Amino acid sequence: MEYFLGVHCSVSGGLENAFDEANGLGIDVMQVFTRNQRQWNAKPISEEEQNTFLNTWKSSKIKVAFSHCSYLINLAAESDETREKSIAALTLEVERCTQLGLSYCILHPGAAGSQTENTAIEKIADGLRQVLEKTSDSKVMILLENTAGQGSSVGGPFENLKLISELTQSNRIGYCFDTCHAFAAGFDIRTTKGCEETFAAFNNILGLENLKAFHLNDSKGDLGSHLDRHEHIGKGKLGLEPFRYIMRNFPLIPKVIETEKSDELDRENLELLKSLI
Ligand SMILES: [Zn+2]
Ligand SMILES: [Zn+2]
Repeated sequence: MEYFLGVHCSVSGGLENAFDEANGLGIDVMQVFTRNQRQWNAKPISEEEQNTFLNTWKSSKIKVAFSHCSYLINLAAESDETREKSIAALTLEVERCTQLGLSYCILHPGAAGSQTENTAIEKIADGLRQVLEKTSDSKVMILLENTAGQGSSVGGPFENLKLISELTQSNRIGYCFDTCHAFAAGFDIRTTKGCEETFAAFNNILGLENLKAFHLNDSKGDLGSHLDRHEHIGKGKLGLEPFRYIMRNFPLIPKVIETEKSDELDRENLELLKSLI
């Protein structure tokens, strides 16, 4: 059976190693970092690395793979230098995803710092337009991830994401819905009714057809706490209902867990999620 469910896989020791982990877990979706996510610089992907990755993929069960962008990227950065570096790093990430055949790169929209939210949103959209223009030959989509709304981060309310994509005007922008972030941002998805309301709002504001991926994480923080702290599935403040709802209502949208990693814990989380269908 196809679950369109997986985990964030490690590329330690070589990008193709992610498939070993994926095969071991029997998953059909994976997320990777294509580079060290805490450094600006990345060694280019050689043709050999690219071929090894693509060939290893062929002999795996992975149907959809995507990347998560570096945490350093902030398209809204106040410092021109950081913003330029961010635009360059995101451009490079889209290029790396193109080389590796990854469908999406998932991006935290950005943080306003001492700027107004509107200024931040305009800068994010302008940055995205530059990146999309520089990579206009690529089919890779950039998925804006909803955030917990921690600090000055943009992207807690769906309206933030809507404004960014309206200003960006590209069919290569989509969304990733993170359950932990949504709850921490104030969406009460603990009940079926809460899920129905949240996804109805998502559909009204962003359009469900643009929802391309899920991050399935339980939450250590309370409703509206703005805390971005992931917990194992069913072990946090969310309980199982939102995961049951998503597993049943969005069977074909790729989902990955981003919970604290170990082979055993990943297996437990995956089995639990599958059992909810
Ligand atoms: Zn996430
Ligand atoms: Zn998170």
